[in-house]
Amino acid sequence: MATRVVVIGAGPGGYVAAIRAAQLGAEVTVIERDNVGGTCLNWGCIPSKVMITTAELLDKFHRAHEFGLRLEGKVFPDMQRLMARKEKVIQDQAKGILDLLHHHKVRYLRGRGAIERQGLIAAQLDDGKTLEVPWDKLILAPGTQPCSFPAFPFDGQQILSSNDALCLNAFHNHKIAYILLMHQFCSLKHCSLNINSDDICCHKISDSWHQLN
Ligand SMILES: Cc1cc2nc3c(=O)[nH]c(=O)nc-3n(C[C@H](O)[C@H](O)[C@H](O)COP(=O)(O)OP(=O)(O)OC[C@H]3O[C@@H](n4cnc5c(N)ncnc54)[C@H](O)[C@@H]3O)c2cc1C
Repeated sequence: MATRVVVIGAGPGGYVAAIRAAQLGAEVTVIERDNVGGTCLNWGCIPSKVMITTAELLDKFHRAHEFGLRLEGKVFPDMQRLMARKEKVIQDQAKGILDLLHHHKVRYLRGRGAIERQGLIAAQLDDGKTLEVPWDKLILAPGTQPCSFPAFPFDGQQILSSNDALCLNAFHNHKIAYILLMHQFCSLKHCSLNINSDDICCHKISDSWHQLN
């Protein structure tokens, strides 16, 4: 009998492990509570790169004369369209991941996985049903979530997580302070710096931590 492998989480950690286990002959089930692709596809690498691409293009337009172009009229960002493009890229890539799982005969369950006991996972499916899934090997790939400073919980308005920042439909001309915890957030700063030309200040975590706590 094939080894039964259950993977919790279908981010880049989980779905790649699932496909590899299937290639090695295991009978694999992936349980994902949200869209496939995890943070990377839905809230991280991919959406930020979509936005950066637009920001860099906009920057090039603003410097058109340097490239020997005469630009008449104004070029400005259309956040609604940018968000629509971001969603399309995410949907296309999510479909690619689902196709890959299907191609490798990985069973995909949309729901929340919890360890019931040794050798058994309970998957609370989106339709409200609970499914028990037995395993011989378990791979936990639940990833991470944005974490706020205790004194400044995310509110989606003034204090934004990186998830919030990647869903803005408009940049109001407010000052933006970035708390850079990891290099990825530099890309977000880079992006809105180009799209929103207003004042931006940027703190490194070492400078900010003491001020905020
Ligand atoms: C803004 C930003 C930009 C980034 N840019 C880059 C980049 O350019 N390059 C790079 O290499 N990395 C980048 N990263 C980091 C990258 O996104 C992560 O390293 C990567 O997503 C981690 O993959 P993972 O599979 O471990 O976890 P995740 O991608 O977080 O996936 C975990 C999955 O598990 C699911 N899950 C959790 N608990 C359960 C449960 N109980 N039941 C079912 N499902 C569950 C979650 O819904 C999620 O889909 C970026 C991150 C951010 C935030």
